[in-house]
Amino acid sequence: MKRFFLFLLFCAMAFLMIPSHAQAAAVTDFRWTTRNDGNPPFVRIVMDLTDKVQAEAALDKSGKNFEVILRNTAMPGQPKDYQMDPSIMSLVTTSQQGKDLYLDVALTESHTMKDIKVFSLPANIKAHKPQRLVVDIPRIAPSYNSASPQNYEISPSDARVLKGKIICIDPGHGGTDTGAIGQLNGQPVYEKNITLSIALPLRDMLTEAGATVFMTRTTDRDVYKPYDGDNEELQARSDVGNNNHADAFLSIHIDAFSNPSVDGTTGYYYAKTDKDQLLAQSLHDAVLNEIDIPDRGVRANDLYVNVHTNMPSTLQELGYISNPDRVAMLTTPGVPEKIAKSLFDGFVAYFSKVDN
Ligand SMILES: [Zn+2]
Repeated sequence: MKRFFLFLLFCAMAFLMIPSHAQAAAVTDFRWTTRNDGNPPFVRIVMDLTDKVQAEAALDKSGKNFEVILRNTAMPGQPKDYQMDPSIMSLVTTSQQGKDLYLDVALTESHTMKDIKVFSLPANIKAHKPQRLVVDIPRIAPSYNSASPQNYEISPSDARVLKGKIICIDPGHGGTDTGAIGQLNGQPVYEKNITLSIALPLRDMLTEAGATVFMTRTTDRDVYKPYDGDNEELQARSDVGNNNHADAFLSIHIDAFSNPSVDGTTGYYYAKTDKDQLLAQSLHDAVLNEIDIPDRGVRANDLYVNVHTNMPSTLQELGYISNPDRVAMLTTPGVPEKIAKSLFDGFVAYFSKVDN
């Protein structure tokens, strides 16, 4: 990992004194977990130590490279790479440099020092707990939030097709409803986060092309209310399309199945208008054109949002979260944008046909 750090010593941590008889400490255990009980979820890294240590933390200018230095601390078997939660960080490395132990974290999104907590927990003999150093790193919503949309290059011909179109995008699940749950490196991956990671760049591409986009949600939340019933929740999503008189409605989902080898993409529609099938087929074909994924076809069904929206609508299942290769791909930075681009091209194909 690059170590071009603008060294901001994190004085606010008012650290952990070095005992005057400071002797080298050692890390006896290194562990981590994703804590989904926090809001936002965070990765907690815990190091068991034989003694108190002085720690310093720094973040580079991009906010994406975070480093903790444990002075005069040894950890056997360095350097080592860890794959933790890919929605928070792409790589964590520990390495020994002289007497000091370095913990480097490559973050997926920009963080500030205020986001990240580094603190010590004292030894508790009665509870058989050693001295510990804890690092909490939260999940930061991707930078394409409603306040700061990303810019995408849109071709003039695509913009001509999409200008003035009203499109409703529904990132499946959210909030108390995680959707399907996959596993990556022993950690849970939630459908609700993947659907949003595809929906947000799609929104930005369509907006850039001159379409008006209504989202059922732009953050990790329930659209109706927490712990609501399926029908209330799905009606609230349909209402976003209906109330805004959308020309087209897309619900984005990731599939799951008990057999982990199953994979592929499926386009669903309910033929309440003469264009539902065309919309489903256009988006499905574009995904197959641009993404290496098995074809599970375009299928008629009576899924709630397709039945209860007034305009042509489709629900697209974009791969299986239960498939280990697919979940790794879906959580790779840049891939959600690639899928978004394929859906964008599907909308261009659809409106090109509808308008002619
Ligand atoms: Zn779903």
